[in-house]
Amino acid sequence: MGDHFQTIVDLDAGAGEAPRLAERVLDRLVTEGIVLAERADRSFGHHLPGPHWDRAVDPADTDEKPCDGLTLYTGRTIFHGGQGEPEWVRCPRCTTTTRLYTDEYDRIDAAWEPYGTAMDRWHASGAADVICPACATPVPLPDWTWAYDYFAFACLGFEFWNWPEFGEDFRALVTDALGGHRTVRVWGKL
Ligand SMILES: [Zn+2]
Repeated sequence: MGDHFQTIVDLDAGAGEAPRLAERVLDRLVTEGIVLAERADRSFGHHLPGPHWDRAVDPADTDEKPCDGLTLYTGRTIFHGGQGEPEWVRCPRCTTTTRLYTDEYDRIDAAWEPYGTAMDRWHASGAADVICPACATPVPLPDWTWAYDYFAFACLGFEFWNWPEFGEDFRALVTDALGGHRTVRVWGKL
């Protein structure tokens, strides 16, 4: 099986406001009983499930209480889906899809190269464009769409370890606590 995670990533939070927003969401989750306020020192999530953890997950999926917790990420982070890599990336301007792997699942290094370079630049500086191979427009790295929402480039994330799949209501609750910021769910396993 392995350990799996789901991370709700705030796409709009700046680095400066991320710690304050993280506290606000944590307070809300503690108030709802979804996680505990205490910060445990452990590998798989610092805030363990609270008495009403099931409020976060799909109602059909509440048989087994998760035993791992929530880790908060504040600061510039490349959130990604763990094992594997995305097979394609899509330009938000012209909607052309660029293949990153062949049908035989061979990595297309030449297609990857501009994105890999931009990731290094984004991580160092917080800004990087990739020129779309189809429409030649420079597009900010965080704006591209990845297969399975594999990547998110952001300053705030809520990473839950070994929880059942979140319900839509939970996403809405977190979005509300974030003042309506756009969010995406990045998921995967170790
Ligand atoms: Zn394009």
